[in-house]
Amino acid sequence: MKKQTIAIIALVIAQIFWGASYLMSDFALKVFPAATLVSIRISIAAVVLGIVGLVTGQLKKIEFRDWKYFLLAAFAEPFVYFLCEAEALNHVSPTIASVMLSFIPLLTPIFAFFFLKEKVTLMNVLGIVVSVVGVLMIILDGGELSADVLGILLLFIAVLASIVYTLVLRKIPERYNTLTVVFFMFCTSLLFFVPTMLVRELPQVMAIDWAADNTWNAFGAIVGLALSASCIAFLFFSYGVRAIGPTRANVFNNIQPGVTAILAWIIGAIGLYQAALQCEAIDKSFFVCVKEAAPEWIMILGIVVVVAGMFISQMNVKQQILKFKVIMLSKIIKEDYIVQSRRFIDNANKILLTGHISPDGDSLGATLGLYHLLKQLGKDVIVMVPNRYPAFFSWMPGIDKVFVMEENKTEAVKVIKEADLIFCMDYNTLDRVNGMKPLIEQSKAKKILIDHHLDPNINCDVVISHPEVSSASELVFRFMCRMGFYQEVSLESAECIYTGMMTDTGGFTYNSNNPEIYIIIKALLEKGVDKDAIYNKVFHTYSEDRLRLLGYCLNKMEIIPECNAAIIVLTQEELQRFNYKVGDTEGIVNMPLQIENVNKSVLVREDKTQIKLSFRSQGDVAVNTMAEKFGGGGHKNAAGGESNQSMAETLDKLRRVLING
Ligand code: 5GP
Ligand code: MN
Repeated sequence: MKKQTIAIIALVIAQIFWGASYLMSDFALKVFPAATLVSIRISIAAVVLGIVGLVTGQLKKIEFRDWKYFLLAAFAEPFVYFLCEAEALNHVSPTIASVMLSFIPLLTPIFAFFFLKEKVTLMNVLGIVVSVVGVLMIILDGGELSADVLGILLLFIAVLASIVYTLVLRKIPERYNTLTVVFFMFCTSLLFFVPTMLVRELPQVMAIDWAADNTWNAFGAIVGLALSASCIAFLFFSYGVRAIGPTRANVFNNIQPGVTAILAWIIGAIGLYQAALQCEAIDKSFFVCVKEAAPEWIMILGIVVVVAGMFISQMNVKQQILKFKVIMLSKIIKEDYIVQSRRFIDNANKILLTGHISPDGDSLGATLGLYHLLKQLGKDVIVMVPNRYPAFFSWMPGIDKVFVMEENKTEAVKVIKEADLIFCMDYNTLDRVNGMKPLIEQSKAKKILIDHHLDPNINCDVVISHPEVSSASELVFRFMCRMGFYQEVSLESAECIYTGMMTDTGGFTYNSNNPEIYIIIKALLEKGVDKDAIYNKVFHTYSEDRLRLLGYCLNKMEIIPECNAAIIVLTQEELQRFNYKVGDTEGIVNMPLQIENVNKSVLVREDKTQIKLSFRSQGDVAVNTMAEKFGGGGHKNAAGGESNQSMAETLDKLRRVLING
């Protein structure tokens, strides 16, 4: 099962337990006075959570300076909160209590606004107004107050206490995990509960008849409360928050009053039916009892309005509009391909994402961008590239997991053979992955190509090839969104995607006229991407040697006016003189295009085993056709090829190609 599905089930169960807790408290209150009830409940829960915490090693020590927060928070909740809630249940129905207490998440932003200067949105306020209307409908049933004023007042104090608790909680350092916080909060609160119980309720407690069945049933309800509401629900809720984030997890709070109302209804109906069975004279069907126990329609409507108000307050209109815009991006990838890819991913056990030789920002961005999503979906994924990437990409999230084939060939062969789904990303021919080529060709795995180079020439089951997009990374973002995972795209994934889009467009200076690119960027920024920082990390971390090499290149550059071209040649000896490292020549080939009348630029680099040629051009001038003459290819304005001839022969050929086109 998907992690998300599990999280949703956990959150629903938590809400059912909490929704039922009002009814269980109500039942136990018939025998136990309020402070006694809560003291027992919290003691049991503290013991259980303490054991869970010790066994799982989650329980951490609290530092002395943090105790003041624990005391204050524990006084607000559990102490004041639970006491008021329990006491209120002596005055109002469990459903009303549940509805009123659902105001806590609603009012918190308002208090956070006044005390912590946090932002409050129009939707927050609107939601509260709608919910208040709903509550009025419930408690002012038919113009008459159906609930006791004292009960409502107590619930209101409980709401305030809980808000104070939430606000104090934010002061508690994040290094304490939730289990630690709640465990110590429970323990601390006993300092308040036990004296209250002794002072206020001792005579009542002494008078409890322990021989009566009812007492033990009520005690059972308290144990049930401790285990279900205070332990299991709490652990499930924390799990849900971690899995899908607090905002989405809190949405589930909204179903609580509904759960209470429905459970109260069912219990009411069962009670009526049992009573009917006992006095055999009345012949009443269970269905009649269900009808009789039904709440007033105005109450049902009130609950619906309250819940609607809660949804409104959590709505983030800006986010929704952005999400809509992302959904509305042109559907350039065929629907069939999305469906097929989705099926391959669902059925795959081991997924391999491959990028091209001399990995650039786009091949790393595309592979890693998808890597993070597939990981999140619980897949076994590996990113593999033929050789090492430049150091200025080493900050990219997940790059430490990238498999560099050249550095461990035997293991790489094994990984490729084991894969049952292979993605070919940011390349259009297997000549671009060197040693991986024969292995990918022979592999029986399903294959998906995601690329933006012209004329793909790889035998794949799904070919997603769009030369019109800025980068393979952009295509991956579109691919993930089309599969319905926009929400799931993490910050890590977003950072990788942005890097690929940025590097393949020279910081959005070419191939970047499509307005949709900027909708995607907006979406990535909303995910938390720091684009300025990424620019600095990629473009402003060169070595001194590399900058001097650039100066040397510009000096050495040869201009051929007849064909508006510039050539820069770097021999092995020159590279060594400048301590050449992978990536050092990146970007240099673009510079001669800054000269008026130069619209073609070529960098010829003598590598250890062959000569590498990088072509760049502007506007309508195509250089991929020129690169093809050197066994390579690429895009119209950025291409590359190789030569195994001598430097003199290579340059001769290059000049001919430049002149003849
Ligand atoms: P660079 O000049 O930055 O190495 O490469 C620019 C673009 O040209 C790359 O994105 C890639 O599409 C293409 N390219 C570079 N070298 C080769 C090559 O040897 N073969 C092919 N087919 N394309 C290349
Ligand atoms: Mn690319």
